[in-house]
Amino acid sequence: MTKYDFDLLVIGAGSGGVRAARTAAGQGVKVGIIEDRYWGGTCVNVGCVPKKLYSYAAHFAENFADAAGYGWTVAKPAFHWPTLRDNRAAEILRLNGIYNTLLENSSVQRIDGRGKILSENSVQVGDKTYTAERLLIATGTWPFVPEFSGAEHCLTSNEIFDLPEFPKRFLVYGGGYIAVEFASIFNGLGAETHLVYRGDKPLRGFDEEVREFAHNEIAAHGVQMQLGCEIIAIEKQATGLLVKLSDGRHLEVDAVLSATGRRGNVENLGLENVGLEVNKSGELSVDGNFCTQVPSIYALGDITGGPQLTPVALAEAMVFVHNLYSGKEPRKMDYKNIATAVFCHPNIGTVGLGEEEARKAYPAIRVYSTNFKPMRNTLSGNTSRTLMKLIVDDATDKVVGCHVVGSDAGELVQGIGIAVKAGLTKADFDATIGIHPTSAEELVTMRTLTRN
Ligand code: FAD
Repeated sequence: MTKYDFDLLVIGAGSGGVRAARTAAGQGVKVGIIEDRYWGGTCVNVGCVPKKLYSYAAHFAENFADAAGYGWTVAKPAFHWPTLRDNRAAEILRLNGIYNTLLENSSVQRIDGRGKILSENSVQVGDKTYTAERLLIATGTWPFVPEFSGAEHCLTSNEIFDLPEFPKRFLVYGGGYIAVEFASIFNGLGAETHLVYRGDKPLRGFDEEVREFAHNEIAAHGVQMQLGCEIIAIEKQATGLLVKLSDGRHLEVDAVLSATGRRGNVENLGLENVGLEVNKSGELSVDGNFCTQVPSIYALGDITGGPQLTPVALAEAMVFVHNLYSGKEPRKMDYKNIATAVFCHPNIGTVGLGEEEARKAYPAIRVYSTNFKPMRNTLSGNTSRTLMKLIVDDATDKVVGCHVVGSDAGELVQGIGIAVKAGLTKADFDATIGIHPTSAEELVTMRTLTRN
């Protein structure tokens, strides 16, 4: 008889934790999983899924406007927030049920409550203590709100989906992908929307041309960009929230969303009981097998500070279980060429290196870039344009980066991600016959070099 309750005890039932628990259980491992808030974690409950549903809702505004040029008479569209909010809540409830069933069917023991590590092999949940040969920390991250007077009036992405009333005037604070996505969503749904960011344009870290183009398009869609400034105070007034900016201006809005980054979710996790320390972002460092400095304690997903994306947490969980329980040759998690999307309006899809990164990584590159009015926007009179860009290592002809800003860019770049991951060359792209008429065919017909 084993001396522990479990072989593996997972803390946190988000993307990474659930995948690790189910996959390990599938290999005959005795697994328990602890969750204190919502089964399925951030992505399902307050992240990717509800955000994408709201993004779909917001796109309708543009679609209604486009319809007239195609001969449709559309009555003045009206948006009803409670319908969207409640339909979303029902859908998420359905998904929570699916997560529970998946765990039950894979004979993982579910434990409700907040887990606190007591020792290298034990975790306390409420008044019970569970022991395990190995612990896996998959507690994700938590929104971080900077300190300023009135910061308590800020909402975070945790609360934004369930607002009792739709804010007619909305302000997003931040310049990362979550900030631009929510700015586009509330703008599309009809709010007067401001984005306040201290930089000169949002989406730091993305390809510069993509940033510039996306910034102009998001602004052209109606988001009022308040750049180069910070919030210094928020005052609650009878008519709304008075937001004071560092450049001396004041804005009155009904809601402020702080999308100013996230920190590791380690509060009251008991890390001090096992001598584990986090960096200033609250993240744990791990080795290639996701092991922390404590040999029986592992960590994966957002808490480890890698690319904070659901498919990354899922892939890490698969590598973790493979290396620990399959008995097969260990694998390494590959973080190269991860395709990703930003669901601002228009969407951004990207894989591989940006132009600036590629210039540092390779002695010589070729850049193929085009921006055009997509066919769909001809009859509608919609002035939105699409940007497509390929970056090629000149020495090998390999495509090392692909970036698209335009309708459904994420859908498109997922496919290109396979080509980039496979190391295909610009000649392979050129040899591919396009699908006509699509916007995507531009990616295989870009013959003219934009710059070296
Ligand atoms: P999480 O999914 O955060 O799960 C951690 C779980 O641990 C939570 O359920 C939490 O309640 C639980 N927990 C924490 N501490 C304890 C404890 N002590 N005891 C018990 N339980 C605990 N990614 C994408 O790929 N695409 C997107 O479009 C996308 N959009 C996003 C939009 C938003 C607004 C946000 C916030 C995130 C988005 N992400 C997106 C990121 C994605 O949600 C995360 O990368 C993913 O959820 C990480 O999974 P995880 O398992 O590491 O942590």
